Amino acid sequence: MVNGTRKRLELVTALSTNSMGEAERLGSMVVGVLALQGDFAEHAAAVRRVGANVLEVRTAEQLSRVDGLIIPGGESTTIARLMIAYGLREPIVERARAGLPIWGTCAGAILLAEEIVTLDRPGLRLVPMTVERNAFGRQIDSFEADLSPGVLGGGALHAIFIRAPRIRSVADGVEVLLRLGPEMEHEPVAVQWRSLMATTFHPELTEDTRLHERFIAMCEAYAAEASRSALAAAGGSG
Ligand code: GLN
Repeated sequence: MVNGTRKRLELVTALSTNSMGEAERLGSMVVGVLALQGDFAEHAAAVRRVGANVLEVRTAEQLSRVDGLIIPGGESTTIARLMIAYGLREPIVERARAGLPIWGTCAGAILLAEEIVTLDRPGLRLVPMTVERNAFGRQIDSFEADLSPGVLGGGALHAIFIRAPRIRSVADGVEVLLRLGPEMEHEPVAVQWRSLMATTFHPELTEDTRLHERFIAMCEAYAAEASRSALAAAGGSG
């Protein structure tokens, strides 16, 4: 009870600090949410709660204006098909290669993987890891778990898994941010590779904003670097 109240107070304090202090600090930085299918609205709401601007991305022109991109949960087969139909697959790959932070959750994590077991069309092939779709089996195809927070700090992180993929292997250099417990052999459920982050669960469905904060900090660093290079380029030519 006391703990619960304290936790809520901390969250309220964190949220109000963010929505006032950070809105200004984040300035014109824009976090894109790929809005073709799936729970993009929940991600957009979570980004706003942390105090950053959001743009729903459905076109290559919109993609060109963002400082980061979230690929939401949903149906990876559908999102993969629509990314091609909307002419977004190549532009996303290009921007990712140029350092744009991208975070895929659940179906989004599947699409980021270099190797996907049981996906009948190409994903983005950006993160050197192998994932298997719908791999938890019928008994626990949807479940919740409290994860040890690792690098995120603070208390346990409550994670919701919905017909989640499993990360079967990651290449050297891929950082594992979060894992399931010993009963699941500490299997990775959140990883980062350079500016790309993948989580097999749904942080946008809980009030915990730690992962959104982490991603927004990555977008902020990217935006700052991009405007420094733009200034340098303008200075160089003038
Ligand atoms: N099972 C879905 C897929 O394979 C992912 C589920 C989700 O995003 N919650 O695409």
